[in-house]
Amino acid sequence: MIIKIAEHSGFCFGVKQAIETAENVISEHAAHPGRSGVYSFGPLIHNQSVNDDLTAKGLIITDDLDEIPEGSTVIVRSHGEPEAFYEAAEARGLKIVDATCPFVAKIHKLVSDASRAGKNIIIAGDRTHPEVKGINGWCGGNAFICENAEDAEHFGGDSAFIVCQTTSKKETLDSIINVLSEKGISLEINNTICSATTERQKAAAELASESDCMVVVGGYTSSNSRKLAEICRNVCPATYFIEDFKELPLQEVCKYCKIGVAAGASTPEREIKEVVTAMSDTKEVTSMEDVMEDVEASLRLPRSGDIVKGKIDQVDDNQVIVNLGCKKDGILYPNEVSLEEGQKLTDLFKVGDEIEAKVIKTDDNDGGLLLSKKKLEISEHWNEIKEALENKSTIDVKVSRVVKGGVVAFYKEASGFIPLSQLSNRFVESADEFLGQVLSVKVTRVDERRGNRAVFSHRAVLSEERQQKVDEIWETLNEGDIVEGTVMRFTEYGAFIDLGGIDGLLHISEISWGKLRHPSEVLKIGQKVNVKILSMNKEKGKISLGLKQTTPEPWSIIDEKFHVDDIVKGKVVQLKEYGAFIELEPGLDGLVHISEVANKRVNNISEELTVGQEVTAKILDIDSERKRISLSLKDVAGAEDAEEAPEEEAAPVEEAPAEEAPAEEAPVEEAPVEEAPAEEAAPEEEVPAEEAAPEETPAE
Ligand code: SF4
Repeated sequence: MIIKIAEHSGFCFGVKQAIETAENVISEHAAHPGRSGVYSFGPLIHNQSVNDDLTAKGLIITDDLDEIPEGSTVIVRSHGEPEAFYEAAEARGLKIVDATCPFVAKIHKLVSDASRAGKNIIIAGDRTHPEVKGINGWCGGNAFICENAEDAEHFGGDSAFIVCQTTSKKETLDSIINVLSEKGISLEINNTICSATTERQKAAAELASESDCMVVVGGYTSSNSRKLAEICRNVCPATYFIEDFKELPLQEVCKYCKIGVAAGASTPEREIKEVVTAMSDTKEVTSMEDVMEDVEASLRLPRSGDIVKGKIDQVDDNQVIVNLGCKKDGILYPNEVSLEEGQKLTDLFKVGDEIEAKVIKTDDNDGGLLLSKKKLEISEHWNEIKEALENKSTIDVKVSRVVKGGVVAFYKEASGFIPLSQLSNRFVESADEFLGQVLSVKVTRVDERRGNRAVFSHRAVLSEERQQKVDEIWETLNEGDIVEGTVMRFTEYGAFIDLGGIDGLLHISEISWGKLRHPSEVLKIGQKVNVKILSMNKEKGKISLGLKQTTPEPWSIIDEKFHVDDIVKGKVVQLKEYGAFIELEPGLDGLVHISEVANKRVNNISEELTVGQEVTAKILDIDSERKRISLSLKDVAGAEDAEEAPEEEAAPVEEAPAEEAPAEEAPVEEAPVEEAPAEEAAPEEEVPAEEAAPEETPAE
């Protein structure tokens, strides 16, 4: 024999709430013996054994308000009472404890508003049921009650506002609506069937369809239990509707192999268990352990702090009721859910959804377990923060406020601290500029001993990003490459060039083929330059760059640009006793021997020329091998004189006695170029060793 219990069997939220409320009120009164009694106006629920238990504890059940002594407490049952009841109870000086199920109370409000608006109200349901009587009592008793489609035929209005008993069958409601629609009546339909009922009926029908026999346990006066039995019988003809295990037709039932058990909303778990046990005592039950485990589980209650899972039974804008599969339902209020602005519970949850939440209170005074999604989320968020710390991964946080020494930032619902020094990789004077910003951070510390405190660092992320960028740049660079860079800063020994994240050193000697005293002679801060990578040392993080290497070495193309007898322009760059050095272009200097300076004897060259002076010279000789150029100024001057003056006036120059011509005294080829002191001839060598050392300066 296989016995299966239908999901959603047993107490619904409203019934649990009513019983818990009654038990609380009774025990409170018991603690104060002088107080008047606790009454229930009619049986609290449709289950005799539960009512008997409560009566034994002190609950007095009565159908007559006049029997209740003044000052007593009267509990309103879960299916509610008419508005007039409250007025009468108050008039008698009774203390009212309202255990009306919130879903029924919602219908009271609907009909009350509709009645005030002058609408015709139709209640689809059992006219003898206290819930329907109660609803009708909120619209002055003027509602038209429709038990079935036939009743609907007799409705005389041309419009109607429809509500239904919470335990109605959907098919009955639909048939009533069809008749009214066919009559051309304008309808405002409110399907107020409680979803706990719908779920229960659906689960019972499903189980009935796969069972050989169904046992429905519930009070005979319980409307929902009767309907449950009817639904099961439609699917599975061998359906037995019993109030308790004593009524179980064991001999009949035990003929079947697959037995399903369903129970109404007012059936306690104890009775379901007794029925299952009675059947298992009769015959070997293959799945009995599982069945009993299910029943036991339904009796266990989660504790505060437990993470629980359940199915949503009811949702409205004020609360979510969750069936946790135990004897209490979970209740989730909006303040325990992370809702966006303007968002409602009904936007996030729907009936039948599986939900996970944290129990924050085991009793909300109304018999439910208080749940929190927020607290569960915070726990999850802290786990994610700890994971980020462990894995050194990055998380996004939002800066919410500035505090002393830094800011408070939130990772989802969990908060942490970012010290001022960790907000950026630059100096931060005021943290205000970060307010409201979302920053990527590393978790640097979580202190669990002090109730989960986290410290974040945005700076660590920036440093990591920078390092990654630098690594990528290193990967793309090769010695010999010509790359674009930006001049960032000067030193005496060169310039630092930013190559897109790392700096390379452009030594002063590598800037120009000519001689420089300072890099600013040819470069400007911020200038874009194409430089050649001369050497790289990734370990030391150093890159040496050359700018002059991006243009041909002047001597290598001298034949293309300069020829003997060419008249060229240049600048005096150095004066010596034996002559003057003229720069024709950077890196290309020629010598004008003192004898070639002028058409006269020159004893002191500085009387004829000054450093920086622009001159025009004639190339006398080019010695590519020895890298020497001999120039003459007097030849050009002579030619100019010859052009400007009559021949007879130019003659004296040519007539100058040979012995007076210093050119003959110091032949060009003897010009002591090589004698020029090294330090004067090569300015780059003038850079002191200690200044040159910064070639070792790590790339920044
Ligand atoms: S069946 Fe639904 S409406 Fe009725 S008491 Fe239970 S939860 Fe409330």
